[in-house]
Amino acid sequence: MKPRISLSAALFALLASGCATSPAPMPTTSQPEAQSAIPWSRDQSLATMSERVDRDAYLDAYVLDIGQGLCVYVDCPDEARPLLIDCGSDKLGRSTSRQITDWIDQGAEAAGSIALAISHPHADHYDVLPGIERARVESATAGGRRSDYTNRRFLNWFGSTNQLQVFSAQSSQLDYAPLSCGSATVDVLSANASGHTSENGDSLVIAISWGSTTLILPGDAEIENETAAVATARRANRFENQTTAVISSHHGSDEEGSNDEAFFAFWEPRYLIFSAEPTYRHAHPRCSMIERTQHLVAQGRETQIRCGVREDVLRTISTPAQLISTYNQGHVRIRLSRSDITVACLITSPACPVALDPGDVPATRTPVS
Ligand SMILES: [Zn+2]
Repeated sequence: MKPRISLSAALFALLASGCATSPAPMPTTSQPEAQSAIPWSRDQSLATMSERVDRDAYLDAYVLDIGQGLCVYVDCPDEARPLLIDCGSDKLGRSTSRQITDWIDQGAEAAGSIALAISHPHADHYDVLPGIERARVESATAGGRRSDYTNRRFLNWFGSTNQLQVFSAQSSQLDYAPLSCGSATVDVLSANASGHTSENGDSLVIAISWGSTTLILPGDAEIENETAAVATARRANRFENQTTAVISSHHGSDEEGSNDEAFFAFWEPRYLIFSAEPTYRHAHPRCSMIERTQHLVAQGRETQIRCGVREDVLRTISTPAQLISTYNQGHVRIRLSRSDITVACLITSPACPVALDPGDVPATRTPVS
């Protein structure tokens, strides 16, 4: 993450490790309510000297290269505890599940706890979570229904799904407190938009806004969620002039109305990011989706993106649209600074010319040159 010794963080670490008020009282076994802290936290005394740089100057969202899945770790400003939004699959990514969860544990140790969101109940969005061993999860919010979360490893790790905070069908929640992120605002623009007729269509659509910048995380949204999210955003009347980065719905799928033109026309993405692995059988992102939407994304220097025509048939698109894919670029950091958005990547490209320090992101299976 962001190694640096800061005096306030060092003081916090000393206080937290040595005094009785320190972090995270473990809840007693008689607290089953969704609002309580989650009782399976492994370790609550892990404040360390591992600090981050300028935690009040940036909001950093790391889209981790986990292959055909999604795992976004958000380092919040104001030394607030971070968010983890989805974490599932390591099918073919550069980092293994273990490398990803070791890194998340390291961040959670420094921060004390995390808040968790699971966009919807598909394994490629939550099956890596059981590898997290040291993070104290302060709250867990999920799309879909509690009964949809049937992954056995997840249930063994998580305990009771009563602890999942879920929304009623077809809802939204502006300024959603359980996912607060320091002085940034977190909105659930859409939840369960399909009315439980499609698990992807139930995905949470989350907006994280800080100053004049917004990051959109739509999970595996389809046309219903994207339409509902835009309607909520219009009603909120505070997104129209934001600079935005958008994580592509459903890894860049071109089915079920995902990545709708109206969705992009509203957000006008400065950057569109794919968390995807085209060599896996779904062949995401789809070339047809890129060709359909690339004119709606900010234009810059010509960049190359590998995409799927169908299973086992891939090609490379060259486009001035500012597209970034974890398949091409590895781990991606989206940095909000209140007034601007910048990106950095493990492997640079014309759309992502700034290199991430490999020491600041999860280790990879093989060294990345
Ligand atoms: Zn997915």
